[in-house]
Amino acid sequence: MTARVLVVDDVAPNLKLLEARLTAEYFDVTTATSGAEALLACGRDDCDVVLLDVMMPGMNGFEVCRRLKKDPATAHIPVVMVTALDQPSDRFKGLDAGADDFLTKPIDEVALIARVRSLARLKMVLDELRTRASTSVSLGMPDPLVHALAEDGLGGHLLLVEDRASSADQIKFVLRDKYTVDVEPDPQEALVQAISGRCDLFIVSLGLHGFDALRLCSQIRSLERSRQLPILCLAELEDRPRVLRALDIGVNDFLTRPIDANELTARIRTQLRRKRYADKLRDNVQASIELAVVDPLTGLNNRRYFETHLSALVGQAADRGRPLSLMVLDIDHFKEVNDTYGHEAGDRVLRGFAERVRRVIRVPDLVCRLGGEEFVIVMPDTHLDVATKIAERVRAEVERERFVVAEDGSRIAVTVSIGLAERGHDGEPEGLFRRADRALYRAKSSGRNRVSAEAA
Ligand code: GH3
Ligand code: MG
Ligand code: MG
Repeated sequence: MTARVLVVDDVAPNLKLLEARLTAEYFDVTTATSGAEALLACGRDDCDVVLLDVMMPGMNGFEVCRRLKKDPATAHIPVVMVTALDQPSDRFKGLDAGADDFLTKPIDEVALIARVRSLARLKMVLDELRTRASTSVSLGMPDPLVHALAEDGLGGHLLLVEDRASSADQIKFVLRDKYTVDVEPDPQEALVQAISGRCDLFIVSLGLHGFDALRLCSQIRSLERSRQLPILCLAELEDRPRVLRALDIGVNDFLTRPIDANELTARIRTQLRRKRYADKLRDNVQASIELAVVDPLTGLNNRRYFETHLSALVGQAADRGRPLSLMVLDIDHFKEVNDTYGHEAGDRVLRGFAERVRRVIRVPDLVCRLGGEEFVIVMPDTHLDVATKIAERVRAEVERERFVVAEDGSRIAVTVSIGLAERGHDGEPEGLFRRADRALYRAKSSGRNRVSAEAA
């Protein structure tokens, strides 16, 4: 997929130059000649990376960047500040405004392409995660973007891979108030640390004696457990070709010595913000997957899961010519529990009920909460006579001991009615469920607290 780059500059020849270079590398380029125009384009979700000139009349680049990063709709778009002034203070201002990177004029072509390419790749990953995470928001879970914007990128555990004590001391001193920094001169040990998952970010000196630091970076990137770890490289000015190699390998960012304290902090913050943002999205996706199929009260699978899996299990049994039984369970007079002891007590009964059912059944059996106080158990490889015994065991287990319904340990008696049916030759899951439900109705009408089975 072609990444879309928005180039923002008030000077036409500058625009033309960048446009030509990027187009030659097959980027899709659009241009804007003012901050206001740039904000509009980003709001339309028209770009994957923004190259932003600092000095523009009206709204300058810092302000544009700050607004983009403050707006949840555009905060995830990577911004590269383009400045004519190669001043550390300017770089710092840009990074402080939330910029993801900066380039200085005259622009180094190779660095330009490497940086834009790596940021475009990052944007695509974030887009993918955002799309999936939006589902979780619609399910009423917290919006990960809200967290992302609140994240300040401070705090955390950094590992500095450096064998020069003076440089290590200097960096530790600079970061002392903001991060916990461990120094590891041995690359092998560093790799072990990377895999351990204890560190939030790696700072790797490219000038290690007797070891190629790029090898370490590439190892970190190739291992599943350290793939997402942000890496920042420290390079000498003349290391440029190796910096480009590093970016190719997947190193996230670099600094050139002598190291500027503000720039170092700002780049670490950007990387950590970005990482925590992606982590949050990933957690969110995981949680929404679970939310979709698990009942939060009991931890059992929900009706949605039951409906999608019943036909698969029935189909499988039919293919193999194996039996399968289905149990439908409904707690007796449950409404009275709520009415007499309150909804919270009712919830305790439901949790306790799920717990007891889990204790009694076998691993291959599937238990789901259909809703309210209705449950089902699908039992593969089980004939009706055996299923009846299991159902009787569940019923007895519920009756055996009264259920705790309050903090003070007070208990009430609970019973359950169960209907059962076995897979017939028609192989229709709906028919199977209907027969089990009919059996349940009979169990209820003949006095409750009993098991009733319907033959195929
Ligand atoms: P029967 O013996 O005929 O099954 O009577 P019942 O009272 O158990 O059945 P009914 O369907 O009339 O009532 C079910 C009650 O379950 C009504 C509803 O308020 C309650 N309920 C449904 N979901 C929940 C829940 O998540 N928590 C609690 N505490 N109660 C629930
Ligand atoms: Mg009931
Ligand atoms: Mg009911």
